[in-house]
Amino acid sequence: MQRAVAIVLAAGLSTACGTGPDTSATPGAPAASGAITRTAFGTTPEGAAVESFTLRNAGGIEIRVISLGGIITHLTTPDRTGAMADIVLGFDTLEGYLDEHPYFGAIIGRYGNRIGRARFSIDGVEYPLAANNGPNHLHGGIKGFDKVVWDAATSEEAGRSSVTFTRTSPDGEEGYPGHLRTSVTYTLTDENALVIEYEATTDKATHVNLTHHSYFNLAGHNAGDILGHELTIDADRYTPVDDTLIPTGELAPVEGSPFDFRESTAIGARIDTGNPQLTYGLGYDHNWVLNGTGFRRAAFVVEPTSGRTLTVETTEPGLQFYSGNFLDGTLTGKGGAMYAHRAGFCLETQHFPDSPNKPSFPSTLVQPGETYRTRTVYTFGVQR
Ligand code: BGC
Repeated sequence: MQRAVAIVLAAGLSTACGTGPDTSATPGAPAASGAITRTAFGTTPEGAAVESFTLRNAGGIEIRVISLGGIITHLTTPDRTGAMADIVLGFDTLEGYLDEHPYFGAIIGRYGNRIGRARFSIDGVEYPLAANNGPNHLHGGIKGFDKVVWDAATSEEAGRSSVTFTRTSPDGEEGYPGHLRTSVTYTLTDENALVIEYEATTDKATHVNLTHHSYFNLAGHNAGDILGHELTIDADRYTPVDDTLIPTGELAPVEGSPFDFRESTAIGARIDTGNPQLTYGLGYDHNWVLNGTGFRRAAFVVEPTSGRTLTVETTEPGLQFYSGNFLDGTLTGKGGAMYAHRAGFCLETQHFPDSPNKPSFPSTLVQPGETYRTRTVYTFGVQR
């Protein structure tokens, strides 16, 4: 295949296929590390049942994920004193996720990020897509992978528990060619890692770029803005954008710019400096060109007051760092939290935006007979 998406599986970390039995515990009962609780979360207006899965590990980390959009609704981790907090933005009920919201916690597909002028061509055939972001296509269209109900299967082993979401996106869905059989596996390990493995196959040449869209606030989802978080991104270059956030095609050096996160720097340190790129994005909303290839570190974040840390590793060539610029306090989240400007940040591992129309970027084309495979790991820690 044409994409550099080599999958690296650490020893013992083979893909969980979700074939195991569902050994659900009684809702509300304490469950051991590795055990998964499976409960009803509501029904969509179309009558589809949505389920919630709770994964726990030996370190006390708890992740809740629902079969609508594969959305991570809760992610609770300890701080440096052992105090637990939920570090992702989200809603208490299904209704919140069914209403308009900025992709909280979801699987994004078929194409994470923007495709310019909402179209691409394959072998001389043009495929028009929904223009759901000004003139451009964003995050898979009007009803992307974040808004559909997936089939789910669980798998439990000592030290790790997984939920695998599968779905075949029909040929022509949101304008994309080919039936796309997709699976996304979330695994929580006793090493405090959330492993996300993406796989897809198609029966027609098509473009695929799957990612995950949690909004993190390592001080707690309701702890105010994320400007004090200190961020490192392992990238010497980024992809500057036009005023509709489509890359110009240039790979610009970060050196000497507010995009240089090679040394740990507070997100807020340079965000409002009037740099034209930051004006387009209303802050950071850009793709970094990660250094190196294969499975490697992409980013590291530390939140100084709680000591919580987040390490992001991936097989992907790019990372969208989005500083929550479009959050404006109009969304009421879990426990009545008001998600104001920059209340959370996203680190979306991906191929570069608009790759289908940028032949110089790493290709997102997947052909019949190939398997699209990428892997991203979010690891939670503390700094003392
Ligand atoms: C994009 C933003 C967008 C946000 C969700 C991010 O991935 O880069 O531009 O506003 O998703 O709405």
